Amino acid sequence: GGKLYLVPTPIGNLEDITIRAKKILMQADYVAAEDTRTSGILLEKLGIKNQMISFHKYNSKKKAPELVEMMKSGKVIAEISDAGMPVISDPGFILVQECIKNDIPVVPLPGPSAFATALIASGFDAQPFTYYGFLPRKASEQRQYFEAMKLAPATSIFYEAPHRLVKTLHNMVEVLGEQREIVAARELTKIHEEFVRGTCSELLEHFDQNAPKGEFVLLVSPATNTEVELDWDDLVAQVNQAVDSG
Ligand code: SAM
Repeated sequence: GGKLYLVPTPIGNLEDITIRAKKILMQADYVAAEDTRTSGILLEKLGIKNQMISFHKYNSKKKAPELVEMMKSGKVIAEISDAGMPVISDPGFILVQECIKNDIPVVPLPGPSAFATALIASGFDAQPFTYYGFLPRKASEQRQYFEAMKLAPATSIFYEAPHRLVKTLHNMVEVLGEQREIVAARELTKIHEEFVRGTCSELLEHFDQNAPKGEFVLLVSPATNTEVELDWDDLVAQVNQAVDSG
């Protein structure tokens, strides 16, 4: 019967495609791809010939019901994004929801994703962690996320575009403080893979001097006891003040 496969593709190194992913991409009736041109190049490099359907965030609402009908009639669709896991900061979520609603099996394949790849080498505790995807661009909105990360007893992970990184690091210094430990994971699995580790102000200085190039994952260390305690003291002070004035 029809079904939906969610197929991860490499985030840089072509050898990270799995044997199973390759097999599913070859056997599926259609490959639904975010960008058929980019994915066409990938499939060609992998020696896969298959018919592609364009499925991206701008046509997904309209296209999802069409794909569901195809799967209902027995077609197998493999969904891929430009890189890494579909659904993770990429299209696919609507299609997964529609399949579930329509009793169409959804089969996820394990494989590369930038956030998990960055996390395991960050040196920060991997349990618990929070993945935010891309943060809002507006500084005031971005700051609310950093406020949350500041007190979170979990490693925080997000994606950032190179041309926005320095501005974002400025924001981080202001909200998280100069001393908070962070990591920038750059160009994972590629030739220029690099981990820049240090405090917020150290990373700001580094990228001020070395213009950010390539793809980035940012990680913020979990709040330490001091941070939480500081906030606790603050909270007690606020409560006392409220009691005094009330
Ligand atoms: N679906 C992908 C995944 O599973 O990671 C994420 C897609 S999102 C549209 C693209 C962003 O992921 C990039 O802007 C970058 O922040 C991050 N990214 C993707 N590949 C990366 C890599 N090789 N190294 C570092 N970050 C990467």
